[in-house]
Amino acid sequence: MKAVIINNFGDIDVLELKNIQEPKISSSEVLVRIKAVSINHIDIWIRKGINIRPNLPHILGADISGVVVDKGSDVVDIEIGDEVVLSPAVSCNLCYQCMSGNDNFCKNYSILGEHVWGGYREYINIRREFVFKKPKNLNFIESASFPLTFLTAYNALIRRGQIERDSIILIMSAGSGVGSSSIQIAKKLLNAYIITTVGSDEKIQRAYEIGADFVINWKKQDISSVIKEKFGKIDAVLDHTGKMHINNLIKIVKNGGKIITYGATSGHMAEIDLRHIFYRQISIIGSTMGKRADIFEIIKYFENGVFKPIVYKVLPIEEIKKAHSMIESGEVFGKVVIEL
Ligand SMILES: [Zn+2]
Repeated sequence: MKAVIINNFGDIDVLELKNIQEPKISSSEVLVRIKAVSINHIDIWIRKGINIRPNLPHILGADISGVVVDKGSDVVDIEIGDEVVLSPAVSCNLCYQCMSGNDNFCKNYSILGEHVWGGYREYINIRREFVFKKPKNLNFIESASFPLTFLTAYNALIRRGQIERDSIILIMSAGSGVGSSSIQIAKKLLNAYIITTVGSDEKIQRAYEIGADFVINWKKQDISSVIKEKFGKIDAVLDHTGKMHINNLIKIVKNGGKIITYGATSGHMAEIDLRHIFYRQISIIGSTMGKRADIFEIIKYFENGVFKPIVYKVLPIEEIKKAHSMIESGEVFGKVVIEL
């Protein structure tokens, strides 16, 4: 089968399209013919070997849709021919956290394409518990565009953040996968007033179209100054940038406000003034991925038309290097999806 393998960490040239053997399944697994896999920023970090360095050779890709083509003898409730979307992570299913529905706290929690081989390939074997019927109204491309980003955004805003309805919230990076997912969730489920950021004027209109109420081009305007002037202090911030903005973000949330952090793209070692945190009773809340059960909720919201997939570009597997370049250039708004 075709697969994109990395044998080294580095620039896009480490992405090699090869022919490798198809995986075998155990009695509890299904074999899925992958039809689409979307690219996430995490793929870029892993390819470069920044912070995360899995054993090599490695296969990236967390967001997978496809068709079940074989199943083990113990597999129930799914048939050959079923169109599916996969959980972007797997866990032990045996520990206290997994049994409590907090599988993203499992010590064996493994994101596909990070801790275990992912979906830049034609076939994948995976345990039945991590396979979901895909939303009926979405095609394979659209179905591969949402699992990781919507799960991350849902967990950050709803589960961990417990953001109240009608809050005023700053969501960083409208054009990123998690940013665009978060805008939809905050608007549709929480009726939030959403301030967001973009890195170019071309993206401003798109940000409004998907639900933002106020858009700041961070390359032209200082985010915290604009917010202070227009809104005073706000209820909450959803941030993945880390070091570069954290101190300004602390200053723009109201007393008792929340900063939810789910990444640190500008650097992870930040110095913060704790006086703001305790005196103004601000919560800094960490969030990673989400409960697998919430994929059922997210699929339901797609089927009801509440959430919409945001696909920026579809490319064949042969153009995987171009796909990575597009993500790195920052030009994209929404997801880049590889068709297989
Ligand atoms: Zn577990």
